[in-house]
Amino acid sequence: MKITFPAMGHMNIAVKSLLSGLKLDVVPPPPISKRTFELGIKNSPEFACLPLKINVGNFIEAMEQGADTIVMVGGWGPCRFGYYAQVERDILEGLGYHFKMIVLEAPDSRLPDLADQVRNLGENVSLGEAIKAIRFAWHKLSAIERLERRLDYVLPRAWEKSQAEMLYDRAIADIDAAENWEQVRDLARHAEQALGALPLSKETPLKIGLVGEIYTLLEPAANYDICRLIGRMGVEVCRSIYLTDWLNDHLLGGLVKKSVRRHLRQYTYPYLNHWVGGHGWETVGNAVQFARMKCDGVIQVGPLTCMPEIVAQSILPSISAREGIPAMTLWFDELSATAGLVTRLEAFVDMIQRKKLVNYEQVKEA
Ligand code: SF4
Repeated sequence: MKITFPAMGHMNIAVKSLLSGLKLDVVPPPPISKRTFELGIKNSPEFACLPLKINVGNFIEAMEQGADTIVMVGGWGPCRFGYYAQVERDILEGLGYHFKMIVLEAPDSRLPDLADQVRNLGENVSLGEAIKAIRFAWHKLSAIERLERRLDYVLPRAWEKSQAEMLYDRAIADIDAAENWEQVRDLARHAEQALGALPLSKETPLKIGLVGEIYTLLEPAANYDICRLIGRMGVEVCRSIYLTDWLNDHLLGGLVKKSVRRHLRQYTYPYLNHWVGGHGWETVGNAVQFARMKCDGVIQVGPLTCMPEIVAQSILPSISAREGIPAMTLWFDELSATAGLVTRLEAFVDMIQRKKLVNYEQVKEA
């Protein structure tokens, strides 16, 4: 069995490590490229969400490299995610591919059920080996996220931005290749120290909270690397989703660390009091939270036609007016382009900079 999976940011590194730990022959999806987009777009329904199209491109490219099994997560609720695995299977079978699809009914399922599903993936592993593989994958992901937070802090302040990006990229590649716990820990520690040693500007940068649909937030190819684009403009990004938080809340019952989702209730009221599928509810809660954390602006991202994010978008003007935070929504599809995105980001940053200056002048005069 040669197993592959859908790409989603640094989740790839963790899933690859987990599946290898389960003694499976892993064929990771090749890095998302123009060709991945083209394959996905050509073979998916036009109105499907962008993540589904990218998944289809991932699977075709992985099967070209010999994969014969796909592992995919299932889902339920009011948006289209619950149909993803079935639609993708139909598309690929229609194209003539022969493969097995394993659907993990993961989100919000019971922990023992999930552990069983993961163990059943490995053909010759004991429960102990499966737990060891899960813990090592988690360790890699946690190390990567610590570096991500560090880069988000350093990039807007660094005089040598390309140096910061290079240190980070090299560390991520090394962590991906690391084979044991100590290597991962040491690589992350050295990279954090190297990033911390870069000369930084003393000025406090503007801060923008990034909220929205999880795939668009976590996959740089789907958001045109928006975190770096913002960081290079000298603005600090505050991310609303980290994969370990999502896994902890949705798969691990909040047992590994403090739940970030539970405390969102205090922010969503009175704006949105029920779940609308996807990350719509979280987008509203996180936008309010960023406003109260005194971020200078909030940007919502999502794939074009994403229903839960459309609901959240309709609530953002109320949040913006009542909480006093400028907000902008960016939709992504296959026709998006970096140049247009940069222009919109620059205009937004310019606007929040002026707003801050006006507020400062008013406080000075009072
Ligand atoms: S959350 Fe949005 S992008 Fe994801 S499946 Fe649902 S509608 Fe599509």
